[in-house]
Amino acid sequence: MARRIEPDCRQCRREGCKLFLKGERCTTKKCAMERRPVIPGQHGNSKRKVTFTEYGAQLREKQKIKRIYGLLENQMRSYYEEAERMRGVTGENMLSLIERRLDNVVYRMGIAASRKQARQLVNHGLITVNGKRVDIASFIVKAGDEISIKESKLEKQPVKSVRGLKVVMPKWLEFNTESLKGKILALPTREDIDADLQERLVIEHYSR
Ligand code: SF4
Repeated sequence: MARRIEPDCRQCRREGCKLFLKGERCTTKKCAMERRPVIPGQHGNSKRKVTFTEYGAQLREKQKIKRIYGLLENQMRSYYEEAERMRGVTGENMLSLIERRLDNVVYRMGIAASRKQARQLVNHGLITVNGKRVDIASFIVKAGDEISIKESKLEKQPVKSVRGLKVVMPKWLEFNTESLKGKILALPTREDIDADLQERLVIEHYSR
């Protein structure tokens, strides 16, 4: 199944919020949501208010989370199913699992400017977990795992440009931008993940 559907900025305009899919550009005035926050196909009618049914709102929220993390439907559903089998709150478990994907960890550590770029770095074999190359973007990290960049790839762009950068990262992660080595300090909890995601709607959708 083809992964990408619509150009990145168009996805943000469709969701009506910034999904931060394009790295540095997302925090500049060049961001399409800063310049023209209009739903695609609305021909400049930015004032249009869209109202959803409960079902529509559930679908929209699921789509938003899939777009942010670059997930396919079958992946999203399998995170839900696994979360349901775990102890605790299903929605929080689901977000925590998604957050623990290796591509997301590489992005959160500041090694890549976007999750899409992080996925490429992982797929191209640049990332190691506990000293072994892992080229599966959906690999789920555990507390204590050590993340680093393959020795032979250290001089490659964009890895080279990470050196010395000041990166603000969530408290469950540690990454030294001089040695380019990092660690999963703990599993992410709900408060470590974007507050405006409404995982409850996704759970309601799948449990219908
Ligand atoms: Fe979304 Fe980033 Fe494009 Fe802005 S620049 S619309 S946040 S992908």
